[in-house]
Amino acid sequence: MALICREVVEQIEETVWEPVEEWVERREKKCKKKKCKKWCLCCNKWFCWIETFLEKVITWVAKQVTKLVVRAVCQIVHDVLVAVIDTIVAAANIVFDILRILWNAITLDWQDLKDAWKDLLADLVDLGPLLVKWLRLAVAVWTFGIPYILGYLRDAVNEYRLRNYIRDKLDKHYADNSECLEAIKDKIHLDHGPFGLEFDATSVRTFVDSRTGPSGGPPTLLAMHQGGQLDLYELTGLNVGNVLDRPRVEGYLIEGELPIDNEDIDEYIASGGMGPHFKVFAFDRSAETQKITVAKDKGRQVGLKLQWERTTVEVEGVTRLNVPSVNLGTSRNEFLTNVIGRATDGSDVCRLAAAGVFNMTHTDGRNPFGWTSTFMPTSPVSGLLHRDRRPAEFMKYVLIHECGHYFSLAHEGHDGLDKIMFSPVENSWWSWNLILEFLVWSGEPRFTLDDGKKVWDFLIDTIPYCIIEGCDERPQPNPTVIT
Ligand SMILES: [Zn+2]
Repeated sequence: MALICREVVEQIEETVWEPVEEWVERREKKCKKKKCKKWCLCCNKWFCWIETFLEKVITWVAKQVTKLVVRAVCQIVHDVLVAVIDTIVAAANIVFDILRILWNAITLDWQDLKDAWKDLLADLVDLGPLLVKWLRLAVAVWTFGIPYILGYLRDAVNEYRLRNYIRDKLDKHYADNSECLEAIKDKIHLDHGPFGLEFDATSVRTFVDSRTGPSGGPPTLLAMHQGGQLDLYELTGLNVGNVLDRPRVEGYLIEGELPIDNEDIDEYIASGGMGPHFKVFAFDRSAETQKITVAKDKGRQVGLKLQWERTTVEVEGVTRLNVPSVNLGTSRNEFLTNVIGRATDGSDVCRLAAAGVFNMTHTDGRNPFGWTSTFMPTSPVSGLLHRDRRPAEFMKYVLIHECGHYFSLAHEGHDGLDKIMFSPVENSWWSWNLILEFLVWSGEPRFTLDDGKKVWDFLIDTIPYCIIEGCDERPQPNPTVIT
């Protein structure tokens, strides 16, 4: 479900329905307080009850119908627009690649010819998800938009069941503290209003600076290029390395924020790193926006309203550009604590931190898309790393997948590309719901109801002080020593 449609519906829910529901609730309370007229066997109370009951039913039905219509119409308009724009962009890219190939063939620029060919392949791969979007729209047209209504109903039922689960769990956890119980229910809009817990998050994009290095020596970036640890032309996006495994680069000359060209890098190398001064980011800002938007939207499925702030952090050296040995606890925490500034005692767990990095390498040589250190009282450093590559339509779900891990979700039981917590290494890509999900239901991967329950188990059992301040004791700081 697109974030914008979700937000429109929530706006209506907040401004129109919440006051109405509260008003009905107040009436119900008044009704209860009314004195019984004994001469007619409390008839005044009965009428009051019946009236309130009818009001409740009518409000509920009107609310559901409005939400459904607004959401379904918004979603259809949104999906058609997105499909049309994506198609125009895809066609323009492909035409551009072909023209580049022809031009390079005429001018005999073999390097750029090879790059244009790789770009063409990557752009052709992007057509896959686009084709699925159009197929889904075609199915929706043949069936008079029924999938949109069904998709909405499924979401509404799942949210209703998740709310009930949370209500039971909170009732048990705060059985002796009705004040906190009510405060939390209000805060997360458990009974009415736009449901979800507002949870702070910081997105960090790491970058390298061409001048940074040891004093008296050449800049680190130049040394790495000369030592064969990276290729500056590929890092800055001027040359294409791998067809798909490359980020959407952002690099610019610091003076005037101008794009970098081949001559700049030639000059930089020739001058021993003193030439053009530039910065390169792990991925560009629009890629970050895309990932954050998906994370905000999908987070709602598990009752989380992630509130993102953005920042950038400079990194330097091989292990910072290609974070190693991710399955060894210490080294991953070393990056999180020393570069991202995460607390060793876990005292910052109530603010999620997501670091966008250039690359990561597993001890077995694989380059994972992301990984997360989940808070546990015994290993309290928390945070996640993720990177960009192509196709963007798949990679845009990596951030929210890692956020799922942040709230304790695992891969187990997530077979199928239709699940956000799917792992290409641990799960099978196939599930029976797959075809149905992409052609009929939402057209996108999703969190399951069980995911939502597990997230709330973690929130209430492990970090309840992140839901509301002052109701649960925070664990005593237990710093782990990083060596
Ligand atoms: Zn994972």
